[in-house]
Amino acid sequence: MVLVFAEAVNGNFKKAAHEAVTYGTKTAAALGTDCVALTIGSVNDAGNLGRFGATKVYNVPGVDSFDSGVYTAAIAGTAQQLGAKTIILMHSSTGKSILGRLAARLDAGSAPGVNSVPTVDGSFKVRKAVFSGKAFAEVEITTDYKVISVAGNSIPVEETGSALTVETLNLDLPASRTKVLETKRASGRTPLPEAELVVSGGRGLKGPENWGVLEDLADALGATTACSRPVADVDWRPHHEHVGQTGVAIRPNLYIAAGISGAIQHLAGVNSSKTIVVINKDPEAPFFKAADYGVVGDLFEVLPKLTEAIKAHKAG
Ligand SMILES: Cc1cc2nc3c(=O)[nH]c(=O)nc-3n(C[C@H](O)[C@H](O)[C@H](O)COP(=O)(O)OP(=O)(O)OC[C@H]3O[C@@H](n4cnc5c(N)ncnc54)[C@H](O)[C@@H]3O)c2cc1C
Repeated sequence: MVLVFAEAVNGNFKKAAHEAVTYGTKTAAALGTDCVALTIGSVNDAGNLGRFGATKVYNVPGVDSFDSGVYTAAIAGTAQQLGAKTIILMHSSTGKSILGRLAARLDAGSAPGVNSVPTVDGSFKVRKAVFSGKAFAEVEITTDYKVISVAGNSIPVEETGSALTVETLNLDLPASRTKVLETKRASGRTPLPEAELVVSGGRGLKGPENWGVLEDLADALGATTACSRPVADVDWRPHHEHVGQTGVAIRPNLYIAAGISGAIQHLAGVNSSKTIVVINKDPEAPFFKAADYGVVGDLFEVLPKLTEAIKAHKAG
Protein backbone atom coordinates (compact mmCIF):
# COMPACT_ATOMS: atom_id res chain seq x y z
CA MET A 1 0.00 0.00 0.00
CA VAL A 2 1.07 3.57 -0.73
CA LEU A 3 0.44 6.20 1.95
CA VAL A 4 0.39 9.89 1.01
CA PHE A 5 0.59 12.50 3.74
CA ALA A 6 -1.51 15.36 2.33
CA GLU A 7 -0.46 18.50 4.13
CA ALA A 8 -2.96 21.31 4.62
CA VAL A 9 -2.05 24.95 5.22
CA ASN A 10 -4.39 26.66 7.67
CA GLY A 11 -6.79 23.74 7.20
CA ASN A 12 -6.88 23.94 3.40
CA PHE A 13 -5.11 21.98 0.68
CA LYS A 14 -2.91 23.65 -1.90
CA LYS A 15 -2.38 22.26 -5.38
CA ALA A 16 0.77 20.44 -4.20
CA ALA A 17 -1.36 18.19 -1.94
CA HIS A 18 -3.49 17.17 -4.93
CA GLU A 19 -0.31 16.58 -6.94
CA ALA A 20 1.05 14.33 -4.16
CA VAL A 21 -2.13 12.23 -4.10
CA THR A 22 -2.11 12.01 -7.93
CA TYR A 23 1.55 10.91 -7.68
CA GLY A 24 0.66 8.37 -4.98
CA THR A 25 -2.19 6.99 -7.10
CA LYS A 26 0.14 6.51 -10.09
CA THR A 27 2.80 4.93 -7.87
CA ALA A 28 0.22 2.55 -6.40
CA ALA A 29 -0.94 1.60 -9.90
CA ALA A 30 2.68 0.86 -10.88
CA LEU A 31 3.08 -1.28 -7.75
CA GLY A 32 -0.31 -2.97 -8.21
CA THR A 33 -1.66 -1.75 -4.89
CA ASP A 34 -3.89 0.97 -3.38
CA CYS A 35 -3.11 4.57 -2.49
CA VAL A 36 -4.51 5.96 0.77
CA ALA A 37 -4.26 9.55 1.99
CA LEU A 38 -3.54 10.79 5.50
CA THR A 39 -4.36 14.19 6.96
CA ILE A 40 -3.31 15.42 10.39
CA GLY A 41 -5.29 17.78 12.64
CA SER A 42 -8.30 19.73 11.54
CA VAL A 43 -8.58 19.88 7.74
CA ASN A 44 -11.40 21.12 5.50
CA ASP A 45 -12.83 18.82 2.81
CA ALA A 46 -10.29 16.03 3.44
CA GLY A 47 -12.65 13.54 1.76
CA ASN A 48 -12.04 15.37 -1.53
CA LEU A 49 -8.63 13.67 -1.72
CA GLY A 50 -10.59 10.68 -3.05
CA ARG A 51 -11.10 12.68 -6.24
CA PHE A 52 -7.38 12.37 -6.97
CA GLY A 53 -7.42 8.59 -6.68
CA ALA A 54 -7.02 7.83 -2.94
CA THR A 55 -9.15 4.80 -2.08
CA LYS A 56 -9.37 5.80 1.60
CA VAL A 57 -8.77 9.05 3.47
CA TYR A 58 -7.69 8.95 7.11
CA ASN A 59 -7.39 11.73 9.66
CA VAL A 60 -5.35 11.74 12.84
CA PRO A 61 -7.16 14.25 15.08
CA GLY A 62 -5.98 16.26 18.07
CA VAL A 63 -2.78 17.73 16.59
CA ASP A 64 -3.21 21.50 16.56
CA SER A 65 0.13 22.78 15.38
CA PHE A 66 3.13 21.43 13.51
CA ASP A 67 5.75 19.48 15.45
CA SER A 68 8.04 17.27 13.36
CA GLY A 69 8.27 14.62 16.10
CA VAL A 70 4.50 14.33 16.47
CA TYR A 71 3.90 14.37 12.71
CA THR A 72 6.61 11.70 12.23
CA ALA A 73 4.97 9.52 14.88
CA ALA A 74 1.53 10.03 13.27
CA ILE A 75 2.74 9.11 9.76
CA ALA A 76 4.93 6.20 10.90
CA GLY A 77 2.14 4.89 13.16
CA THR A 78 -0.37 5.07 10.30
CA ALA A 79 2.01 3.34 7.88
CA GLN A 80 2.65 0.54 10.37
CA GLN A 81 -1.02 0.13 11.28
CA LEU A 82 -2.14 0.00 7.62
CA GLY A 83 0.85 -1.96 6.32
CA ALA A 84 1.85 0.85 3.90
CA LYS A 85 5.46 0.45 2.77
CA THR A 86 5.78 3.39 0.37
CA ILE A 87 5.24 6.76 2.01
CA ILE A 88 4.93 9.93 -0.02
CA LEU A 89 5.32 13.45 1.32
CA MET A 90 5.15 16.84 -0.37
CA HIS A 91 8.55 18.52 -0.83
CA SER A 92 7.41 21.49 1.27
CA SER A 93 9.21 22.84 4.33
CA THR A 94 7.06 20.47 6.41
CA GLY A 95 7.84 17.51 4.15
CA LYS A 96 11.56 18.32 4.17
CA SER A 97 11.63 18.49 7.95
CA ILE A 98 9.84 15.16 8.35
CA LEU A 99 11.49 13.07 5.61
CA GLY A 100 14.79 12.22 7.32
CA ARG A 101 13.17 11.65 10.69
CA LEU A 102 10.50 9.39 9.21
CA ALA A 103 13.07 7.41 7.23
CA ALA A 104 15.13 6.88 10.40
CA ARG A 105 12.02 5.81 12.34
CA LEU A 106 11.00 3.24 9.69
CA ASP A 107 14.55 2.20 8.76
CA ALA A 108 13.61 3.30 5.25
CA GLY A 109 15.59 4.39 2.22
CA SER A 110 14.56 7.88 1.22
CA ALA A 111 14.68 10.23 -1.77
CA PRO A 112 13.83 13.91 -1.37
CA GLY A 113 12.41 16.09 -4.13
CA VAL A 114 11.66 13.43 -6.75
CA ASN A 115 10.01 14.48 -10.01
CA SER A 116 8.99 11.25 -11.73
CA VAL A 117 6.69 8.37 -10.90
CA PRO A 118 8.80 5.38 -9.78
CA THR A 119 9.77 2.69 -12.25
CA VAL A 120 9.21 -0.66 -10.58
CA ASP A 121 10.52 -3.29 -12.99
CA GLY A 122 12.06 -5.50 -10.32
CA SER A 123 13.59 -2.53 -8.54
CA PHE A 124 12.17 0.78 -7.26
CA LYS A 125 13.76 3.78 -8.96
CA VAL A 126 12.89 7.47 -8.86
CA ARG A 127 14.40 10.48 -10.59
CA LYS A 128 15.33 13.84 -9.08
CA ALA A 129 17.00 17.01 -10.27
CA VAL A 130 20.60 17.63 -9.14
CA PHE A 131 23.24 20.34 -9.71
CA SER A 132 20.62 23.11 -9.63
CA GLY A 133 18.46 21.36 -12.22
CA LYS A 134 21.31 20.88 -14.72
CA ALA A 135 21.21 17.08 -14.42
CA PHE A 136 19.01 14.25 -13.20
CA ALA A 137 19.93 11.52 -10.74
CA GLU A 138 18.21 8.16 -10.82
CA VAL A 139 17.91 6.81 -7.28
CA GLU A 140 17.15 3.20 -6.44
CA ILE A 141 15.58 2.58 -3.04
CA THR A 142 16.35 -0.94 -1.90
CA THR A 143 14.67 -1.06 1.54
CA ASP A 144 11.26 -2.51 2.41
CA TYR A 145 9.95 0.86 3.60
CA LYS A 146 10.47 3.76 1.19
CA VAL A 147 10.02 7.45 1.95
CA ILE A 148 9.97 10.01 -0.87
CA SER A 149 8.96 13.65 -1.20
CA VAL A 150 7.53 14.94 -4.48
CA ALA A 151 8.75 18.26 -5.91
CA GLY A 152 5.93 20.68 -6.71
CA ASN A 153 4.79 20.96 -10.35
CA SER A 154 6.34 17.57 -11.20
CA ILE A 155 3.08 15.97 -12.17
CA PRO A 156 -0.23 17.39 -13.41
CA VAL A 157 -3.16 16.90 -11.05
CA GLU A 158 -5.58 14.24 -12.32
CA GLU A 159 -9.08 13.59 -11.05
CA THR A 160 -9.72 9.87 -11.26
CA GLY A 161 -12.05 9.21 -8.33
CA SER A 162 -14.71 10.76 -6.14
CA ALA A 163 -14.98 12.26 -2.66
CA LEU A 164 -14.84 9.80 0.26
CA THR A 165 -15.89 9.70 3.89
CA VAL A 166 -12.93 10.43 6.13
CA GLU A 167 -12.02 7.74 8.65
CA THR A 168 -10.52 8.75 12.01
CA LEU A 169 -7.35 7.03 13.22
CA ASN A 170 -6.69 7.28 16.94
CA LEU A 171 -2.98 6.81 17.53
CA ASP A 172 -0.94 6.99 20.70
CA LEU A 173 1.14 10.08 19.89
CA PRO A 174 3.95 11.63 21.94
CA ALA A 175 3.47 15.05 23.51
CA SER A 176 4.83 17.91 21.43
CA ARG A 177 8.26 19.15 22.58
CA THR A 178 7.75 22.58 21.11
CA LYS A 179 5.02 25.18 21.44
CA VAL A 180 4.05 27.78 18.84
CA LEU A 181 3.61 30.99 20.81
CA GLU A 182 2.63 33.30 18.01
CA THR A 183 2.13 33.13 14.25
CA LYS A 184 2.46 36.28 12.17
CA ARG A 185 1.10 35.83 8.68
CA ALA A 186 2.58 37.77 5.80
CA SER A 187 -0.15 39.90 4.32
CA GLY A 188 -0.61 40.90 0.70
CA ARG A 189 0.91 38.77 -2.02
CA THR A 190 1.23 34.97 -1.91
CA PRO A 191 4.63 33.99 -0.43
CA LEU A 192 7.15 33.22 -3.19
CA PRO A 193 7.61 29.48 -2.49
CA GLU A 194 3.85 28.96 -2.94
CA ALA A 195 3.23 31.45 -5.75
CA GLU A 196 1.85 30.15 -9.05
CA LEU A 197 2.49 33.46 -10.85
CA VAL A 198 5.71 35.42 -10.35
CA VAL A 199 6.86 38.70 -11.91
CA SER A 200 10.55 39.33 -11.36
CA GLY A 201 12.92 42.23 -12.01
CA GLY A 202 16.67 42.70 -12.26
CA ARG A 203 19.23 45.41 -12.71
CA GLY A 204 17.57 46.40 -15.96
CA LEU A 205 15.00 48.28 -13.87
CA LYS A 206 17.79 50.78 -13.08
CA GLY A 207 16.62 51.71 -9.58
CA PRO A 208 14.07 51.03 -6.80
CA GLU A 209 11.96 54.03 -7.87
CA ASN A 210 11.11 52.22 -11.14
CA TRP A 211 9.55 49.14 -9.59
CA GLY A 212 6.02 50.52 -10.12
CA VAL A 213 5.91 49.13 -13.70
CA LEU A 214 6.63 45.65 -12.37
CA GLU A 215 4.22 45.90 -9.43
CA ASP A 216 1.44 47.12 -11.73
CA LEU A 217 1.86 43.98 -13.84
CA ALA A 218 1.98 41.79 -10.70
CA ASP A 219 -1.23 43.46 -9.43
CA ALA A 220 -2.99 42.96 -12.76
CA LEU A 221 -2.04 39.26 -12.79
CA GLY A 222 -2.44 38.62 -9.05
CA ALA A 223 1.24 37.61 -9.06
CA THR A 224 4.02 37.69 -6.47
CA THR A 225 7.08 39.88 -7.09
CA ALA A 226 10.66 38.58 -7.10
CA CYS A 227 14.10 39.91 -8.05
CA SER A 228 17.66 38.99 -8.97
CA ARG A 229 20.31 38.90 -6.29
CA PRO A 230 22.20 42.14 -7.11
CA VAL A 231 18.92 44.00 -6.77
CA ALA A 232 18.39 42.66 -3.25
CA ASP A 233 22.09 43.17 -2.40
CA VAL A 234 21.79 46.92 -3.01
CA ASP A 235 18.47 47.05 -1.14
CA TRP A 236 16.33 47.97 -4.14
CA ARG A 237 14.12 45.07 -3.04
CA PRO A 238 13.81 43.03 0.19
CA HIS A 239 16.05 39.96 0.48
CA HIS A 240 13.13 37.53 0.75
CA GLU A 241 12.32 38.37 -2.91
CA HIS A 242 15.70 37.22 -4.20
CA VAL A 243 15.42 34.04 -6.28
CA GLY A 244 18.21 31.79 -7.48
CA GLN A 245 20.95 29.52 -6.27
CA THR A 246 21.49 31.52 -3.10
CA GLY A 247 17.91 32.74 -2.81
CA VAL A 248 14.48 31.14 -2.95
CA ALA A 249 14.02 28.27 -5.45
CA ILE A 250 10.61 28.50 -7.08
CA ARG A 251 8.49 26.38 -9.43
CA PRO A 252 5.55 28.61 -10.42
CA ASN A 253 3.29 28.02 -13.40
CA LEU A 254 4.42 31.35 -14.88
CA TYR A 255 7.69 33.25 -14.32
CA ILE A 256 8.02 36.63 -16.04
CA ALA A 257 11.56 38.03 -15.89
CA ALA A 258 12.15 41.66 -16.88
CA GLY A 259 15.63 43.19 -17.11
CA ILE A 260 17.34 40.03 -15.86
CA SER A 261 20.27 38.67 -17.89
CA GLY A 262 19.73 34.99 -16.95
CA ALA A 263 22.99 34.16 -15.18
CA ILE A 264 23.33 30.47 -14.28
CA GLN A 265 22.98 31.29 -10.57
CA HIS A 266 19.65 33.01 -11.26
CA LEU A 267 18.40 30.20 -13.51
CA ALA A 268 19.19 27.64 -10.81
CA GLY A 269 16.27 28.95 -8.75
CA VAL A 270 13.72 29.49 -11.51
CA ASN A 271 14.36 27.02 -14.33
CA SER A 272 11.78 24.57 -13.01
CA SER A 273 9.03 27.12 -13.68
CA LYS A 274 6.41 25.72 -16.04
CA THR A 275 6.40 28.70 -18.43
CA ILE A 276 9.16 31.33 -18.56
CA VAL A 277 8.65 34.70 -20.24
CA VAL A 278 11.73 36.89 -20.68
CA ILE A 279 11.69 40.61 -21.45
CA ASN A 280 15.13 42.01 -22.26
CA LYS A 281 16.39 44.69 -24.64
CA ASP A 282 19.49 42.63 -25.47
CA PRO A 283 18.64 39.85 -27.97
CA GLU A 284 21.83 38.05 -26.89
CA ALA A 285 20.78 37.88 -23.19
CA PRO A 286 21.39 34.26 -22.05
CA PHE A 287 17.94 34.12 -20.41
CA PHE A 288 16.32 33.81 -23.87
CA LYS A 289 17.80 30.30 -24.17
CA ALA A 290 15.75 29.20 -21.13
CA ALA A 291 12.60 31.09 -22.17
CA ASP A 292 9.35 29.68 -23.51
CA TYR A 293 8.43 33.17 -24.75
CA GLY A 294 10.79 36.08 -25.25
CA VAL A 295 10.21 39.77 -25.90
CA VAL A 296 13.20 41.74 -27.17
CA GLY A 297 12.40 45.27 -26.07
CA ASP A 298 12.63 47.99 -23.47
CA LEU A 299 10.89 46.77 -20.32
CA PHE A 300 9.66 50.29 -19.60
CA GLU A 301 7.62 50.10 -22.80
CA VAL A 302 6.75 46.39 -22.74
CA LEU A 303 5.58 46.02 -19.13
CA PRO A 304 2.92 48.79 -19.20
CA LYS A 305 1.56 47.41 -22.48
CA LEU A 306 1.38 43.92 -21.01
CA THR A 307 -0.37 45.28 -17.91
CA GLU A 308 -2.94 47.12 -20.01
CA ALA A 309 -3.54 44.04 -22.16
CA ILE A 310 -4.10 41.87 -19.09
CA LYS A 311 -6.46 44.41 -17.52
CA ALA A 312 -8.40 44.66 -20.80
CA HIS A 313 -8.56 40.85 -21.06
CA LYS A 314 -9.81 40.54 -17.47
CA ALA A 315 -12.38 43.29 -17.98
CA GLY A 316 -13.81 41.86 -21.07
C1 LIG B 1 28.12 32.38 -5.80
C2 LIG B 1 27.11 33.23 -6.53
C3 LIG B 1 25.77 33.06 -6.24
C4 LIG B 1 24.81 33.85 -6.89
N1 LIG B 1 23.49 33.65 -6.61
C5 LIG B 1 22.57 34.35 -7.30
C6 LIG B 1 21.18 34.14 -7.09
O1 LIG B 1 20.78 33.33 -6.25
N2 LIG B 1 20.30 34.86 -7.81
C7 LIG B 1 20.68 35.78 -8.74
O2 LIG B 1 19.82 36.40 -9.39
N3 LIG B 1 21.99 35.99 -8.96
C8 LIG B 1 22.94 35.33 -8.26
N4 LIG B 1 24.25 35.58 -8.47
C9 LIG B 1 24.60 36.71 -9.38
C10 LIG B 1 24.53 36.33 -10.84
O3 LIG B 1 25.77 35.76 -11.24
C11 LIG B 1 24.28 37.57 -11.72
O4 LIG B 1 25.29 38.54 -11.47
C12 LIG B 1 22.92 38.21 -11.46
O5 LIG B 1 21.90 37.26 -11.54
C13 LIG B 1 22.68 39.32 -12.46
O6 LIG B 1 21.55 40.04 -12.09
P1 LIG B 1 20.70 40.82 -13.19
O7 LIG B 1 20.31 39.88 -14.28
O8 LIG B 1 19.61 41.55 -12.48
O9 LIG B 1 21.72 41.93 -13.71
P2 LIG B 1 22.55 42.02 -15.05
O10 LIG B 1 23.34 40.81 -15.30
O11 LIG B 1 23.25 43.31 -14.99
O12 LIG B 1 21.45 42.06 -16.20
C14 LIG B 1 20.58 43.13 -16.42
C15 LIG B 1 19.83 42.81 -17.69
O13 LIG B 1 18.87 43.83 -17.91
C16 LIG B 1 18.79 44.08 -19.32
N5 LIG B 1 18.25 45.42 -19.47
C17 LIG B 1 18.84 46.62 -19.13
N6 LIG B 1 17.99 47.64 -19.37
C18 LIG B 1 16.85 47.08 -19.88
C19 LIG B 1 15.62 47.63 -20.32
N7 LIG B 1 15.37 48.95 -20.27
N8 LIG B 1 14.68 46.77 -20.78
C20 LIG B 1 14.92 45.45 -20.85
N9 LIG B 1 16.07 44.87 -20.44
C21 LIG B 1 17.01 45.68 -19.95
C22 LIG B 1 20.22 43.94 -19.81
O14 LIG B 1 20.24 43.66 -21.18
C23 LIG B 1 20.71 42.78 -18.95
O15 LIG B 1 20.53 41.54 -19.62
C24 LIG B 1 25.22 34.82 -7.84
C25 LIG B 1 26.57 34.97 -8.12
C26 LIG B 1 27.51 34.19 -7.48
C27 LIG B 1 28.96 34.36 -7.82
